[in-house]
Amino acid sequence: MPLEVSEIVAALEPSATMAMAAKAKALKAAGKTVHDFSLGEPDFNTPEHICQAAIAAMKAGQTHYTPAAGIPELRAAVAKQYEKAHGLTYKPSQVVVSNGAKHSLHNVFTSVINPGDEVIIPAPYWVSYAELVKLCGGRPVIVETTQVSNFKLLPEQLRRALTKQSKMLLLCSPSNPTGTMYTPAELGALADIAIEADLAVLSDEIYERLIYGNHKFASFATVRPGLQERTILVNGVSKTYAMTGWRIGWTLAPEKISQAIADLQSQETSNPSSVSQYAALAAIEGSQDCVAEMLGEFAQRREFVRQRIASLPNVTCPEMAGAFYAFINIQAHLGRSFRGTRVDNSTQWCQTLLEQVSVATVMGSSFGAEGYARISFATSLSILEAGFDAIERFLKSPA
Ligand code: PMP
Ligand code: GLU
Repeated sequence: MPLEVSEIVAALEPSATMAMAAKAKALKAAGKTVHDFSLGEPDFNTPEHICQAAIAAMKAGQTHYTPAAGIPELRAAVAKQYEKAHGLTYKPSQVVVSNGAKHSLHNVFTSVINPGDEVIIPAPYWVSYAELVKLCGGRPVIVETTQVSNFKLLPEQLRRALTKQSKMLLLCSPSNPTGTMYTPAELGALADIAIEADLAVLSDEIYERLIYGNHKFASFATVRPGLQERTILVNGVSKTYAMTGWRIGWTLAPEKISQAIADLQSQETSNPSSVSQYAALAAIEGSQDCVAEMLGEFAQRREFVRQRIASLPNVTCPEMAGAFYAFINIQAHLGRSFRGTRVDNSTQWCQTLLEQVSVATVMGSSFGAEGYARISFATSLSILEAGFDAIERFLKSPA
């Protein structure tokens, strides 16, 4: 046949989070009530002043191509924000703005990974990491962490994963899917090994502003002197400002890598949407009250979810330090039947939960952790309440 899907794309796993969300949406469109905990997407509207800035930009004629790496004002604003928040100095030329943080990640792997290079990815991991590494000819090396260590990679585990081909360590803190976060000391211990083994580090910090209680976020590049040289930071506006649909993310990297990413992007996509870039600029430079308000709401939901999980029979979950996910341990509920349906793994559990009580979650296996399921609590308290009532009913249902 002249027209076949390439081997590399044929081998690609589609995003399980997007697939589960699409399934829940289709059921809703067919008139079913679904308690949808599938997607990690804030349910708030993008704050009004950000939308107004986008309208103003359109009206002012900012509707053309921009420089490939983004408008200078936004690159400068991102650099300034990192200086202010973390004391890290980056030149605007070290910031490249892309079509969402997912695109930023793809750019990083394309620009840094050579065929056969190994990228060490602690599991549970976000669904897109390993697939994007493979797309770029790299080899994901998955290192399983445990609930005992709060799903954090231990220094000895990192050491054991090292080979001659090790190129990069990928960290996501606060984590999607577990909500746990490394302390500065824990990051420091991993940084020491990265320095010793001459590894690059990709730190996905997209949830940095969604932190609860007394937990303190530290950007990876701050935990040891000189780390900026080997670190690429990924971030964006999707989660912090409820701007998932605007598609703006960015990388902060050494000059040479940023230039390579900008060149790649000039061939790949030209630039991210001009209007979205002006909206992102307003988000960063405008009042941050909206971030505090949304965080307040998320904190209430997290507390609600914590209490409800604690009262579920034989279900546990690590403490959620950040992000908006609960990663529940469902091992005690595998190998049994629910109203006649036998459930042996997390995929079957999530499927049966959806079929029997209309709750959409994402199976742990797609995050590299069988025996778990992810609940996104980026949804209203009333939906959470109805959904948790349904989960409780489900867990207590007869075989
Ligand atoms: N990294 C992580 C850990 C995420 O959860 C997401 C969510 N989609 C992304 C990156 C990508 O974000 P976006 O492309 O919406 O900016
Ligand atoms: N990051 C979110 C999630 O994990 C959005 C979907 C996606 O991009 O994977 O649900």
